[in-house]
Amino acid sequence: MRLPGHKTRIVATLGPASLNRRTVEAMIKAGMSVARLNFSHGDLRQHERAVKLVREASERLGVPVAILGDLPGVKIRVGEIEGGSVTLRRWQTVTLTTREVKGNEAVIPVEFKDFPRLVSKGDIIYLSDGFIALRVEEVRDTDVICKVIVGGTLFSHKGINVPKARLAIEAVTEKDLEFVEFALEQGIDAVGISFVGSAYDVLKVRRFVEDRGSRLFLIAKIERPDAVRNFEEILTASDGVMVARGDLGVEMPIEKLPIVQKKLIKRANQVGKPVITATQMLESMTEEKLPTRAEVTDVANAILDGTDALMLSEETAVGKYPVDAVKMMARIAKTTEAYRDSHWTARMVEWKMEEWKGTSLKRRTIKDAIARSIIEALNSIDIKYILTPTRTGQTARLISRFKPRQWVLAFVTDEWVGNTLMFSYGVYPFTVEEQAEDEIIRIITGLGLVSEGDTVLLTKGTPIGKTVGTNTIRIFQV
Ligand code: PGA
Ligand code: MN
Repeated sequence: MRLPGHKTRIVATLGPASLNRRTVEAMIKAGMSVARLNFSHGDLRQHERAVKLVREASERLGVPVAILGDLPGVKIRVGEIEGGSVTLRRWQTVTLTTREVKGNEAVIPVEFKDFPRLVSKGDIIYLSDGFIALRVEEVRDTDVICKVIVGGTLFSHKGINVPKARLAIEAVTEKDLEFVEFALEQGIDAVGISFVGSAYDVLKVRRFVEDRGSRLFLIAKIERPDAVRNFEEILTASDGVMVARGDLGVEMPIEKLPIVQKKLIKRANQVGKPVITATQMLESMTEEKLPTRAEVTDVANAILDGTDALMLSEETAVGKYPVDAVKMMARIAKTTEAYRDSHWTARMVEWKMEEWKGTSLKRRTIKDAIARSIIEALNSIDIKYILTPTRTGQTARLISRFKPRQWVLAFVTDEWVGNTLMFSYGVYPFTVEEQAEDEIIRIITGLGLVSEGDTVLLTKGTPIGKTVGTNTIRIFQV
């Protein structure tokens, strides 16, 4: 077998543009590691079909692919507008209403019954990803009367953001929990939790899943300012995080986005949990065959920031070139990672050392020390692969955060654990019956990944058979 040419993970959203066997297979071949189903769009039948398509394609190609179901959360939306769109002019008055009307220049329906109770005079309301801004003048029973501050064309079903109102809304709704139930029925691997505000929102989903004796990899979407403030507790409560730049860029001043992205990625790297950078990464490829220079640079910079995964939304869900978008990301990743190989890993380690100076060593685990020692070894001798038998995936993730040049080949006995590793940079999971050293060597030799004389590094937990966790490194020639 041949491992992919790039180690950064690509999360691609499936939608009308990609929901067919040929396209899904081509996307996997091009480097998609996670298929994202956006529960905000489409119906359950479509998502069920998507799960089937991905599982079958993954099986046929012999490539592991994780499935991420993205919960809608409370995304407040504009209702139906007459003729599909309306133009709002600066300084005009417009009423947002929860009454069931068709929208026009004067009245716009809002699909959220409690909306008038969330806003008060003077609040700024953003429509359509922040392109249109309104100021609240007066709130009546079902109506919110506004003045247009920034005008523009508004289409049906566009999103509404009221940064201040977020605090008053429960992030995880009953509807979300129904989607979680559906995800469990379908054997989906992970869910994205939208508009998380604190650890409580993540724990609510976790409790729901555990009460059903089940499990899901939980990705907290960081898309409101209080989630940035509460990042530490959210990170602790989740299995991974997403820098959801779409809503975050409306909910907080857009110019803060680049630095917030860097900080969140760095912190997620430090604790060894995967982080996805999302939204508008190759936006122009929704329509065009090639991305802009700025987009290519943004993708490369996210990789250099240390992101585990890059996400495609409209590009692959409704775009004209879903497969090309994945291919383009893979190309950028391959080239950018090669640059980091020589310069970045060492810096990551040094930075880690500095971190260690400030923290109590007792709070670090044996696995942490093992991961750091591996990086030392990789820098001093020529090692072909890092072989990591792992029960929960934790050891593989702790090594992956250093972005080593070599693949981490993770040997798991549980396919779900393997799928969750498809969110982590440079980890390739193999589901095996047995995690013994001889068995691992037999498998990778059989696949043609190593030949006699190659040097490999193997992590293990000894004594074998006891659940001691990874505590040993063995470097040897095959
Ligand atoms: P969404 O989340 O696409 O589900 O809104 C991502 C984002 O907000 O960036
Ligand atoms: Mn969002």
